[in-house]
Formats: sequence, C-alpha cells, structure tokens
Amino acid sequence: MRIFGILTLLCAFLSQASAQKISVNKYGLAVLSTRQQYDQLIKADSNQQLVNLEHYIPGIQKDVRYATTNNFTKQKLYTKTDIYMRLPAAKALKAVQEVLRRKGYGLLIYDAYRPYHVTEAMFKIVPNDLYAADPRKGSGHNRGVAVDLSMVNLKTNKPVAMPTDFDDFTSKAHENYNPADPVVAANRKLLRDTMKQFGFKGSTTEWWHYYLPDYKKYPLMDIFF
Ligand SMILES: [Zn+2]
Repeated sequence: MRIFGILTLLCAFLSQASAQKISVNKYGLAVLSTRQQYDQLIKADSNQQLVNLEHYIPGIQKDVRYATTNNFTKQKLYTKTDIYMRLPAAKALKAVQEVLRRKGYGLLIYDAYRPYHVTEAMFKIVPNDLYAADPRKGSGHNRGVAVDLSMVNLKTNKPVAMPTDFDDFTSKAHENYNPADPVVAANRKLLRDTMKQFGFKGSTTEWWHYYLPDYKKYPLMDIFF
C-alpha cells in the first residue's frame, strides 16, 4: 500500500516534469523558453525544428545587422550571428536560393529566427509598432518562420540595388512604391516573385520581410541557438 502510494506520487511527479507546460507571459502569450520544451515539440512534430540555414542552404550569405550597431536601434542586440528557421521555411528558402542561383543571384539574410526577448528589447528602444513588432503580439521572427533578406549578384558578390537599405521605415520600402530605376524594380520583383513561388508572403511596408502564412502553427520562442 505504502509502495503503491510512493509510486503514484512518483508517477505524478514524472508526468508533470515531462509535460513541461509552456508558461504564459505578462501579455498572456505562451512563449516556449526551455530546451526541454523545444525537444518535446520537435519530438512530436519534426517540422518544428529550427534549422541552421548556412548548413542547410549551399551558398547562402548573411549580414546579421542586429549583431552590429548598424541597425535601427543603433545597439547590438545579438551576441551570435547564426541564422535559423523552422524546417518548412528552410526548405522553401533552399528552393528559392536554387532558382535565384540559376539566374546569377543568391540570398542575403539580414535576420531570421529572433528570440522573443530581443523583440521586447527592440520595442523598449523604439516603442512604435510601425518599426518594431509589438511584444504583446510577438513576431513571425519569434516563431522561426519570418525572414529579412535581400539578394547578392553572384558575379560581383555584392548586394543588389533595392529601393532602400534594410530597416528603412520610409514609404520607399513599401510594396506599392514605384522605383524610378528599372533595375531596382526588377531586383525587387525577382525576389518577390521567387519568394511567393515557394509559399512565402511579403510585407506591405518592408520589401525585405517575408513569412510563411501558417505562422500560427509555430509557437513563439525565447531560446538562443
Ligand atoms: Zn522582418
């Protein structure tokens, strides 16, 4: 009887420990924040795994601005420059890279998965959701299915001309802006058409921002990889 009682207690303890309930933050958002929670998630659904884009996509390039002071917050927000996305996003991006490569271009990543606390830090510095995602909602970047990117010309290995620099919050970065330079318009169109071909949706205000439309399938996360 006594052994049975101890066993019952032990089982209750173990099931509680393995359930690893995702806690809700002060905004009522469930944010996955431990490695165990992440391991459980990917055990249940391998599409939830975050993939290192540089390992997964041959030739992909990066300029992780948030690891430098060259970004709209003028502060270093990352200590590392690894770029990760969920497996379905990485697969789609790999297909984009392959199509672009045959046309003489390659992808240049500015930002991919972004831990939730970085979104909070950005909003503290610039509390305006025109410029930074509101932490009360979180961002597709926190879910690992949004990406900020441009292209490089493989002949020159330099970024192509786009309507603005990354994180320019003027109307020139908008989807409906008509660039005077036809080369700029063509570059933006090539990136946009190819991203859409493989299932990404674009932003109406940021030419560099793309995301998977089923982003709600992927929980907000606050783990550094
Ligand atoms: Zn973005």
